[in-house]
Amino acid sequence: MASDPMIQLKDVRFAYEQGEDDTPQAAEFAIDGVSFNIEKGSFVAIVGSNGSGKSTLAKHMNALLLPTSGEVLVDDLNTVTESQTQPWEIRKRVGMVFQNPDNQLVSSVVEDDVAFGPENIGIEPSEIRRRVDESLQMVGMYEHRKKGPHLLSGGQKQRIAIAGVIAMDPECVVFDEPTAMLDPKGRREIMSIIRKLHSQGRTVVLITHFMEEAAEADRIIIMEHGKVHADGTPAQIFSRDDLGVLALPFAVKMAKRLRQSGIDVPADIVTDEQLADFLCSKEQG
Ligand code: ADP
Ligand code: MG
Repeated sequence: MASDPMIQLKDVRFAYEQGEDDTPQAAEFAIDGVSFNIEKGSFVAIVGSNGSGKSTLAKHMNALLLPTSGEVLVDDLNTVTESQTQPWEIRKRVGMVFQNPDNQLVSSVVEDDVAFGPENIGIEPSEIRRRVDESLQMVGMYEHRKKGPHLLSGGQKQRIAIAGVIAMDPECVVFDEPTAMLDPKGRREIMSIIRKLHSQGRTVVLITHFMEEAAEADRIIIMEHGKVHADGTPAQIFSRDDLGVLALPFAVKMAKRLRQSGIDVPADIVTDEQLADFLCSKEQG
């Protein structure tokens, strides 16, 4: 398959504070020489310990931050030059969902909140209506459209924030620890929306510290000290012996135990669902 990159990072370095003579010191780079592409339609998880640079990297993917050196291309548009000329072109393509939905909601009525983005880029009112309804239905919040966001649970608020991003109809959505503040039910709901977005053909980047969530991606990138530490399929990543503080998903641990008991579980089984399917097929076979 020919490669068709959604996002290209080329030797990206980023320092929050410049040195006195405007030359950032090597030790200050929050992102320190990162190069990789994210293919259109792929689902990539980014993991790594606190402070490893995940959020800083995410913000480069929709030009919220611009590289100190190197370049970031979004759909072949250079984030530095686009930001000077037509900043919305990047944001239309890549939406961002953050950890805390309270920081993302701006209106006192759910549906106004979802309409906010499309209104700002001058979409026709009838098209805004259509997009707002469709996005609210997609996240299962349509019946709450007239409510005040303050009346909703954390998970519901996060779904509204996601609807607001979907209403912009971005090709790619970057999620920065979207489930970190939610209970298990809220987390499952957000993951099911993420799966839906991916199945619609959108590119998904998911930063998470839940390895069960990362296991659902096509590819996992581990960040460490502002650099890419590892990059591979979930099966490749979870078979490494240098994962440090990153905990293995339940299904990977269980598959190991089953192998020790003589059951030949394939190496690419990394999610609960895959493990359950495998065990059922063995039972029937
Ligand atoms: P992660 O999301 O993986 O926890 P971050 O991208 O937030 O990591 O942070 C990477 C590094 O940049 C850390 O050393 C952090 O302290 C620093 N950093 C993050 N945000 C800022 C900021 N606004 N100003 C200065 N330094 C920051
Ligand atoms: Mg972060």
